[in-house]
Amino acid sequence: MYLNKSLKSFNSFGVESSAAKYVRIENIEQLKKILNNNKKVKKIVLGGGSNILFTKKFNGLCIHMQNKGIEIKSETENYVVVEINSGENWHNFVMWCVKKDFGGVENLVLIPGCVGAAPIQNIGAYGVELKDVFESCKTINLETLKTEKYKIEDCKFGYRDSIFKGMLKNKVVITSIQLKLSKVNHKFNLSYKSLNKLNGLKKLSIKKIAQTIIKIRNSKLPDPKKIGNAGSFFKNPIIDKTLFDKLHKNYKSIPFVKLTNVKFKISAAWLIENTLKKNYKKGDVGIYKNQPLVIVNYGDAGGKEIMNFAKDIQKKVKKKFEIKLINEVVIH
Ligand SMILES: Cc1cc2nc3c(=O)[nH]c(=O)nc-3n(C[C@H](O)[C@H](O)[C@H](O)COP(=O)(O)OP(=O)(O)OC[C@H]3O[C@@H](n4cnc5c(N)ncnc54)[C@H](O)[C@@H]3O)c2cc1C
Repeated sequence: MYLNKSLKSFNSFGVESSAAKYVRIENIEQLKKILNNNKKVKKIVLGGGSNILFTKKFNGLCIHMQNKGIEIKSETENYVVVEINSGENWHNFVMWCVKKDFGGVENLVLIPGCVGAAPIQNIGAYGVELKDVFESCKTINLETLKTEKYKIEDCKFGYRDSIFKGMLKNKVVITSIQLKLSKVNHKFNLSYKSLNKLNGLKKLSIKKIAQTIIKIRNSKLPDPKKIGNAGSFFKNPIIDKTLFDKLHKNYKSIPFVKLTNVKFKISAAWLIENTLKKNYKKGDVGIYKNQPLVIVNYGDAGGKEIMNFAKDIQKKVKKKFEIKLINEVVIH
């Protein structure tokens, strides 16, 4: 246990913050003991810090999940169920699957962060979401210390959303997850435009898809080790038909997905691109040149500065398009 621990190296924006108490969790027994000894203390659970923006000091206990371990729980001819502990690095786990030729998570390669955070916002990329392979997760309730299991149907997964962002927000710590992956006859998902070129390839493999996505992501997204960021700052807005029709009439080029007859998901990147100048910047904070959805810390910006920059974007987009951008990044 550390006191007044700096969290600067534990968040991908690289902003300064600190926790009054900090503990690195390596196993469940240790976690239970810590929770038992800190019943009345406010808590925050941290993984890789790649989807979080600290705007102030945290006057409580920061539980940094670093419990490792990957285990095959069951297996048939076609499928394998794998349990992964929360502190495993998500990308390393995906590469483990690629090596074993287990299918289902290859499109989610190179997403930063830890396994335990993956269900929180139902991570997604290139047409695939965690929910597509998710079986269940184990949790410990931060107040009652009870161990619980949440099956897929309990998790209320949605677009960058789950019960862990809603009813169970800051109430439980996810200690492990179980995923069901294919061993043979993999169902490749090439629905995403930039993967279309792989269609019809004779020797298509999990490895080939992962390699292709790694290449695309490296060319589009800033590496948090070099330039502070938390990936997409905002979610793509889901709007109703009346507003969509009005927008589409005026802006024919707006990228959208029709979700139902009355719901449309539109591109937040497009909204920002069509509101602000390319490379819009204020002090040390700006939008990334190759992807306007990503807010970057060019130097020593603080959390509040980044939050105000995001609010400024929200205000400008709202004024121009009557649409409120919702944060994907968790603000603390
Ligand atoms: C360059 C870049 C690209 C990205 N691309 C994508 C992408 O393509 N798709 C996508 O979905 N996301 C993307 N992200 C966002 C981010 O990587 C994911 O949301 C990731 O799952 C966050 O993991 P983390 O361990 O860093 O979570 P953290 O930032 O540590 O935590 C995020 C939230 O989850 C909670 N939390 C973390 N671990 C636990 C746990 N074990 N139990 C309970 N609560 C917990 C935290 O309290 C916090 O509220 C990207 C981020 C970056 C920097």
